[in-house]
Amino acid sequence: MAEVRKISRPAAQAHLKKLSSRGMGRYFRNKGFAIGEGGRAYCRHLIRKHRILETYLCRVLGLPLEKACEEAHNLQYHASEELVERLCEVSGNPSRCPHGLEIPGRV
Ligand SMILES: [Zn+2]
Repeated sequence: MAEVRKISRPAAQAHLKKLSSRGMGRYFRNKGFAIGEGGRAYCRHLIRKHRILETYLCRVLGLPLEKACEEAHNLQYHASEELVERLCEVSGNPSRCPHGLEIPGRV
């Protein structure tokens, strides 16, 4: 994880411990992180948000795909569920994002 997200090892460990404390999974010192049910549901929820935002930004607002993906990444952590669901409707309830990936259903 530290490598993928380009953050330091202690920062990654602190982050994983925080996720554990929120019931996302379990962190094992020097062994890694086992994602739990809560973590899986959260990932799904975040992926849904990302792909809906990206679809809206790309298809409705006409942003280039790369830019739409970047903006969606920033917005996904802040946009409320109501806003995202509204954008989904306005975008025609898409089943796939502009990358061609499936948009998971609501949890
Ligand atoms: Zn994307």
